[in-house]
Order: sequence, then C-alpha cells, then structure tokens
Amino acid sequence: MKKPIHILLFFILLLSGFSLPSITEQNELVADQGIINLQSYEFSKDKLISLNGQWAFHWQQLLTPTEAQQQKTSDYMEVPDAWDIQTGTMLGYATYSLTIQIPENLQGQVMGIYIPHQYSSYSLWADGERIAFNGKVGDSKESSEPAFRKELAYFTPESPEIKLTMQVSNFEFPIGGATRPILFGKADAISTHYTELIASTLFVIGGILVMGIYQLGIFIFRRQERAFLYFGIVSIIIAARALFVEPLFFTVLFPDFSWLWQSRLEHLILYVGYMMYLLFLRYLYPNEMSRWVVRWSIVLSVVLLVITTIVSPLIYRPIFNYFLVIAFVTMMYVLVVLFKAVRMKRPTAVVNLTASILFFMTVINDALISLNWIDGMHLATYGFFMYILIQSINLSRNYARKFQESELLTDELRDLNLTLDEKIHARTKQLEVMNEKLHELTLLDGLTGLNNRRFFDEKMVEKAEKVKRTKDPVTLLLIDLDDFKKYNDTYGHVLGDELIKLAAAIFKNVVGSRGYIARYGGEEFAIILPDCTEEKGYILAEEIRLAMEDAKMEHLESSVSEFATLSIGGTSSSRHPHQCPEDWIKLADRALYESKEKGRNRVTMK
Ligand code: GH3
Ligand code: MG
Ligand code: MG
Repeated sequence: MKKPIHILLFFILLLSGFSLPSITEQNELVADQGIINLQSYEFSKDKLISLNGQWAFHWQQLLTPTEAQQQKTSDYMEVPDAWDIQTGTMLGYATYSLTIQIPENLQGQVMGIYIPHQYSSYSLWADGERIAFNGKVGDSKESSEPAFRKELAYFTPESPEIKLTMQVSNFEFPIGGATRPILFGKADAISTHYTELIASTLFVIGGILVMGIYQLGIFIFRRQERAFLYFGIVSIIIAARALFVEPLFFTVLFPDFSWLWQSRLEHLILYVGYMMYLLFLRYLYPNEMSRWVVRWSIVLSVVLLVITTIVSPLIYRPIFNYFLVIAFVTMMYVLVVLFKAVRMKRPTAVVNLTASILFFMTVINDALISLNWIDGMHLATYGFFMYILIQSINLSRNYARKFQESELLTDELRDLNLTLDEKIHARTKQLEVMNEKLHELTLLDGLTGLNNRRFFDEKMVEKAEKVKRTKDPVTLLLIDLDDFKKYNDTYGHVLGDELIKLAAAIFKNVVGSRGYIARYGGEEFAIILPDCTEEKGYILAEEIRLAMEDAKMEHLESSVSEFATLSIGGTSSSRHPHQCPEDWIKLADRALYESKEKGRNRVTMK
C-alpha cells in the first residue's frame, strides 16, 4: 500500500520540476559604476542575463535619458535592491541609468528586456526611447501612480552601447526601488522565458483550481467530510495567490483593478489560507493538534484581515512581515504535530509530513524573497501544487479506504442476513424442543417421574373421545396404598416417599407400554389402559397387586399383613360404553372404596 504512493510522489516531483520555467543563468558579469560589459557574453535563444550590479543613481531627480547621460554622478545603487540603504527612506523618487556594452554582432538585432514589477512605478528608456512603464512616475504622492504591471519590451540597438534609463518613484509601499532583477537577452529568449512563466503558472493555477473545486464538490455532497471543505478553500486560495506572483497574471486579467486593492487582496487571501490550513490539520489530527493554537491563529488572522482592509500598505505591509514570523513558528508547530501523528501511526501521516516539509521549504524561500533577503523566484505555488497533489491522493485514498470498509461491512451484513434465517430457524427448533420439554415437565410428577394429575385428566378426555369414535375399549384403574398414614407415622415421611417411588417403579415395570400411569394424588395412582377390556384390566390389576406383595416392604402397623400392600378399583368402557370421564372416575373410585371396605389388598371392578 505504501509503495505506490512513494512512486507517485516521485513522479509529482519530477513533473513539477519540468513545469518550472528555466531559471536564468547567474553570471559573474555584473555592472560596475553604471556600466555592464557583455561583449564576451554569448547570447543565445535560451540564455538570459540579469542586469545586476551598480547602476548610476540620481536620488530625488527625475531625469530624461539625455539629462541622465549628461549629468555625471558618483552615486551608484545596487540593482536589484531596495534603495533605503542609500537614501535612508523607502519613499521618494530617483533615476537609475546603466550602459550595456554588447557584442558588435548584436547591433541591429531585436533584443528583449523583462522587467518584473518594481515598487511602485517606473518608466524605462532604451537609447532615448521609452520602451516600458509601470504606473506613473512622479515627484510626489499626488503626481505618481503605483501599478502592478510587469513589462516585456523589445528594441533594436543601433550601437554596441545601449543606454538604459529608469525613473522610479514610490510613495505608497514600504519597499522602494528597483527591487527585482531586470532580465536581458535576445528577443526570442525573452519571449520564451515569458511564455514558459505564463504556461507553467497557468498550468499550476488550473490544476490547483480544479482540484480545489473537486474537493469542495465532495464536501457539498458529503457535509460530514469537512477535510474537503478546508482543503478545497486552501487550494482555491493558493490558486488565487498564484495570480499575484510573477508574472502577475491578476494584472493581465484585470488591468484596471485598483493597485491598492490588488495589494490588499494579495495579503488578505494569505491570511484566509493560513486559517483554513490550520483548520484542515486540526480536522485531520484532532488529538495531536492543539485546539488552543488553532483558535488563537484564527483570532489573529481575523484581526489581520480587518487591519489589512482598512489601513494603508505602509502599515499593513510591515505587519505582514511580522505575520511571516508567526507563520514560520506555526509551520514549525505543524511539523511537530505531523511528527507526532507519524509516531501515533495516524493514517497518511508519513505522506503528509513529507509533502509538508517540501512545501514549507518553498514557503520559506518565498518569505525570504518577500523580505528582500534573497533573490530568486517564488516557489510556494509550485510547492503547494505538489503538496495539494499529494494531499488529494491522500484524501482520496482515505476516502477509498472508507468505501472499502463500508463495502466489507455491507458484505458482512449480507452474509449475516443470509445466515440469520438459518439461525432463526435453528433457534425456533430449539425453542420448540425446549417448550415440549417444558410441557412434558408440567405433565410429570416430580417425586416419581410418572405422569401427573394434569396429564391424566388430558389423557382421560382424549381416550373418552376415542372410545366414542372407535368403540375400542378402555379400562381405568385407581390404586391407593393401604394404611399409608400409619406407614408414615411408623417409618417417617422420607421412607414414606421411598415407598411411593417403589410403588411407581412396580407399576411401570408391570404395565410397561400397555397403558399410561399417573400419580393421581398423594399415594393414589391411576392407570389408563387403552385397547383393554374389563377382564384384561382385572388380570393386570391383580399382577400389580401381587407385585406389591412380592416386594415385601415391611409395614408392621398395616391392618393387612406385615408388608406394604395396595388396593385397586377399576372400571372399563367394555362394561359402561357411554360414560364420560368423570363417571368412570367415580365408578373406579367407588370400586376402590369397596376394596378398602372388604379388607384392602384386593382388586374390585365395577
Ligand atoms: P387407607 O388404607 O384407608 O388408604 O389408609 P391411609 O392411611 O392410606 O389413608 P389415606 O389414603 O386417606 O391416607 C393418605 C396419607 O398419605 C395421608 C398422608 O399422610 C400421606 N401422604 C399423602 N401424600 C404423601 C406423600 O407424598 N408422601 C408421604 N410420605 N406421605 C403422603
Ligand atoms: Mg389415599
Ligand atoms: Mg391409602
């Protein structure tokens, strides 16, 4: 699972490497005292040189190209650099001039120059001809007008020496001067550079934008996936920010947009992005990321948003520099959070950490450029492009994993449903068996294991019905132990119970499958004999009586003998065909009474 992600990461890096525009070659050739000698420089269609070094510098003067040639100066100013090192202030105006010495063979060939936007307005002449401008240069805040236009200019040198003159003024921004490197080269090298810059920027903006919209789309349809909301907004913001860095595509899209609001917007979106990014991380790693940090970062961002919207760039821009420090600290904190997440083995934390480190490196690069500490190109957009690609894959992988989990669950549920039927069936069977057993238990007598009175009653009704239908004879016997009260009195209840059990065993043994035996009362029993006439019933009753006698259970107090005996009374449908169960019981009871009367230990049939 891990491997493909790493391969993907590698390809993304490769891709972003290709999409970067060819970086201009750094050359040892630099301007010295207002002159740059490029006679030995080999111009080609893919090489550009930065016109870095000492330009002649006329502070607080706006000179025409001719004036600038005539007026000698001993002041020189490093380009690119903010001019305050020399002037002590960022606000003001000045004229820069530079003589470029080019190889003879370039005379008459079209040359190009690329001027990134300079703070905050400029006009540029080559050999007396104005070839580029940005806003309106003036000697006061009122007469000048800032703008955010990059310029691309072409001209044809008539001599081996090109005189460049650039007026710059700044009354609006806390950075002043020719702060961005000016590129020079053959016309096609310049246009290639510009085209590459535009193409790669558009590619990245388009890519990030589409991914951002996609993430928001997922959120709209699945509101609980807030990671997609935050990350979608961060993506769109980064795409928007890319409009504000070289080659300032925003100005291309909206040439009449106010300079002030363009500058504000550039800062505002960064604050919103910062906020959303932290919310995103908090959502992904709620246990590692402190709620406190996120809350205060949001408060800070909101305050900065308000300030930037109302105050002038001279105030909000320096504040922005402090924000960069806070953002840097936050970045370090985020790295700690991600390290923790990796240690806790949170899903996708490793990939997130790797991508974040790469992204942060590009952000630091941009911050250093913004602070004018280093020269170079803004990389955060590319860094973020890479980050967002990796993160999108991360998010979609998480999402796919969730899908997989729910699919597995669905499968399990389906299986469960299928087996549930079987299980219910089996359980029902079990229940039925248990119920039957329970029912049987209710029909059994606890002491003897014989059927009980209830069973007897049910059986009697059933057999009476059968007699009516089939005329098959049924015989009923009632048995009572003789002088049992005395037995209890003599031997105790425990032995009394034993005698009852013995009697029960004798009945089972003698009757077998010929009939149903039930314990009718305390020491009274009833036997139903199906398919049995009175005669057969009498014979069986005698068998029982004799079996009891033969058991020879001592009963010294008995009025019959010294052994336990029993008396039996019976009746049969073969003699009384149309009787109901109650009448049979009465008849058998009467017969039993007669047996007792006649001296016990005998069988009477009625
Ligand atoms: P008879 O010969 O006239 O039947 O005399 P008897 O003493 O057996 O009289 P009867 O049948 O009326 O007496 C029933 C006695 O059986 C009363 C009671 O003490 C005893 N008995 C009833 N059920 C149980 C029982 O479950 N266990 C024991 N140990 N004794 C019982
Ligand atoms: Mg009795
Ligand atoms: Mg008795």
